[in-house]
Amino acid sequence: MRVLGIETSCDETGVAVYDGQAGLLAHRVYSQADSHARYGGVVPEIASRDHIRKLLPLLDETLQASATERLALGGVAYTRGPGLAGALLVGAALARSLAYALGIPALGIHHMEAHLLAPMLEEPPPRFPFLALLVSGGHTMLVQVAGVGRYRLLGESLDDAAGEAFDKVAKLLGLDYPGGPALEQLAKQGDPDRFRFPRPMTNRPGLDFSFSGLKTYTLNTLRGAAEFDDQIRADTARAFQDAVIDTLYLKCRRALRQTGAKRLVVAGGVSANRKLRERLAQLARTSGARIYYPRIEFCTDNAAMVAYAGWLRLSAGEHDSLAFDVTARWPLPELREPPAR
Ligand code: ATP
Ligand code: MG
Ligand code: FE
Repeated sequence: MRVLGIETSCDETGVAVYDGQAGLLAHRVYSQADSHARYGGVVPEIASRDHIRKLLPLLDETLQASATERLALGGVAYTRGPGLAGALLVGAALARSLAYALGIPALGIHHMEAHLLAPMLEEPPPRFPFLALLVSGGHTMLVQVAGVGRYRLLGESLDDAAGEAFDKVAKLLGLDYPGGPALEQLAKQGDPDRFRFPRPMTNRPGLDFSFSGLKTYTLNTLRGAAEFDDQIRADTARAFQDAVIDTLYLKCRRALRQTGAKRLVVAGGVSANRKLRERLAQLARTSGARIYYPRIEFCTDNAAMVAYAGWLRLSAGEHDSLAFDVTARWPLPELREPPAR
């Protein structure tokens, strides 16, 4: 089965084609980051309009790049949520109407399930069961994964997500939106010994996270300094990044011990961070667990992961009714397994 995937949950417009036999055939992402940068964050109305503008041209381009006639499609998968309601509706409306016109099934996909399954597009893919750390702009979760749709939430952030903390601290440091990658670059020039930030919630049991305090810590560090120069910006970026990464490391170690898992999947935008990957490589060495990531470009939002998750479920016979809907707030553990064939 050949599946078209559509992603419009936030500020990336994505289209991809995944084929059950041949694998990923083509994918395209248009990032709206420049449209939002001058507002310092995503403006929902601009996001919806940009998706409307970009989605159809991107669809044509992706179908062409994958040498796929529309009639060769066996199903359409789109991100149903969680995300911005107006942005989600653009993708859902196109997906549902295209599927209707072609007489093929459509299926709404959970955006975080798509992130979670993204490493399965790589070689070798992780086998079930595994432990997953999802670190993105809106979520930080540790999930015990028994199979597709079999998710047990072990811990999550009680306030800001890891990526959100990167973005907010980047803003305090005068960096442009989205701040994660820029902060990683700035931190390279930082002195690791000048400041030490706390590792929130690591000195008590449990697998939950809290990152909003690091924002306040950053602010106080900058206020306490005599000058706001390049060195203090870099040193602060370094201290912040080390604190987030060390916290993620400690919680993954704890979760691996607690579950006895031998495989750890790390996905979502923050999993693109090289320092995080270096630190977790130490965990792989000491724990014996193997770690799986998406390729860098599939860490942040894309439609390849949506097409893949859609293929898994559509080829098992799952599909939506002719109506369509989006779900702006949608807890991952509410998902169910696809029907047995
Ligand atoms: P969600 O998936 O939770 O709905 P989202 O789709 O906005 O949120 P993603 O696209 O998965 O999130 O990831 C974007 C986030 O990843 C942003 O917060 C961005 O700053 C962060 N990010 C991207 N690259 C890096 C990096 N190299 N280091 C740290 N953070 C990064
Ligand atoms: Mg984005
Ligand atoms: Fe995302």
